[in-house]
Amino acid sequence: MGSGGRTQYLTMTTESPAAGELAPAPLVTCKLCLCEQPLDKMTTLQECRCLFCTACLKQYLQLAIREGCGSPIACPDTVCLNHGTLQEAEIASLVPVDQFQLYQRLKFEREVHLDPYRTWCPVADCQTVCPVASSDPGQPVQVECPSCHLKFCSCCKDAWHAEVSCRDSQPIVLPTEHR
Ligand SMILES: [Zn+2]
Ligand SMILES: [Zn+2]
Ligand SMILES: [Zn+2]
Ligand SMILES: [Zn+2]
Repeated sequence: MGSGGRTQYLTMTTESPAAGELAPAPLVTCKLCLCEQPLDKMTTLQECRCLFCTACLKQYLQLAIREGCGSPIACPDTVCLNHGTLQEAEIASLVPVDQFQLYQRLKFEREVHLDPYRTWCPVADCQTVCPVASSDPGQPVQVECPSCHLKFCSCCKDAWHAEVSCRDSQPIVLPTEHR
């Protein structure tokens, strides 16, 4: 105990702290920036209970949205023991609206991309999700866009080519070769 410091503190407690807040706010270390911050500047992730300062999380999320292509956003702690992912509500509360909308759009595009029973219409200004009626996902089938009625191949997105296999690796070239 120092010379009088403690006594002085005790005499001053009559005025301030409100009930239930007797302990001074502890500082917590953010695992991203390694800074010590008071708890009210921190955000706890719902799923894994990891704690980061809110400013760091915001920065991390904006980057993760741009680079993640709509995949779930994991806890920024790469060794997070609970393998937490951020809930959509958390993302929405931490990034600007336009960023969150971008995330939702990328996420939806990714879901369609991963879904063998849905595909995008290849017409650039159509952007319609078309149902793929396939009993054998991966096999090319004819898809008809419900908006522009284009009939295309579910695999290579070219005009439908019944009886002919996909040639998606070859660019379409006009037959100019004479042999
Ligand atoms: Zn931080
Ligand atoms: Zn975590
Ligand atoms: Zn279309
Ligand atoms: Zn094809």
